[in-house]
Amino acid sequence: MFDSAAADLSDSETLLRENQRLRHQIEANSQLMALLTHQLSTPLTSLQGWLDLLAEPNLDLSQRREFLSLVRQQVHHLHRLLTEVLALHYLDSESLGTHLESLRLAELLHEALELFPGAPIQTALSEGLPPIWGDRWQIVQVLANLLSNALKYSPEASPVLVGAEPQGDRQLKIWVRDYGLGIPAADQPHLFRSFYRVQHPDRAQIAGTGLGLALCKLLVENQGGTVAFESTHGEGSVFSFTLPVSALFPSTPRDEHHHP
Ligand code: ADP
Repeated sequence: MFDSAAADLSDSETLLRENQRLRHQIEANSQLMALLTHQLSTPLTSLQGWLDLLAEPNLDLSQRREFLSLVRQQVHHLHRLLTEVLALHYLDSESLGTHLESLRLAELLHEALELFPGAPIQTALSEGLPPIWGDRWQIVQVLANLLSNALKYSPEASPVLVGAEPQGDRQLKIWVRDYGLGIPAADQPHLFRSFYRVQHPDRAQIAGTGLGLALCKLLVENQGGTVAFESTHGEGSVFSFTLPVSALFPSTPRDEHHHP
């Protein structure tokens, strides 16, 4: 009898907890929906406007080209928004496939750098860095996002440095430094929130989704690392993340792994 009473109690506790979890999830989902709708409506409205203008029969070639390029930019922006929202969703629902393996940072960096041909990025990887234990696609995404931000929020041709060093003997710290706009102190605590963007005149013309850093944080944490940054407004920033070193992990490759 005691047993069944205990079972009843734990059942109702479980039910309550599950109920609360679902409620939080619904709240988070509707918040995400509201934000997403807002984020989609601006580029869609301007796309509509550019397309209406393009339909004008009396446009000259240079105007047509200009409007087409604006349409292309907005489509690119929407595409990026969609990719980032999907990745966030998969991470959230724990359905993002994570394939952990032993990886050389130099190789991953090479892959990420190919996305920025001609950009003023300098690498400073020391010899003999240990291999890392992580997911190739996810690490390249993080590197690409941090490099893209460093370039985007810096004056043209301002150098961006990327490097790495061991942190203790279990982690590797990878950093991206820029000498660009930096981040106002008041915005710093919120930077990794989904859709959070700094509202300051010095970057009013720079487009973005406010999802890049939120995604980086989730991807890094998904692989057992942490993200951090230091920044001075007007001087520049250094963003860094850690990942486990592979030597201390099983040397046989693990199977497809869905993160707990
Ligand atoms: P997005 O760049 O799409 O707005 P992110 O999540 O990547 O979104 O970044 C959030 C905000 O943090 C940006 O709006 C930007 O103002 C600021 N930020 C991110 N990286 C840098 C950087 N390297 N230098 C200055 N500001 C940055």
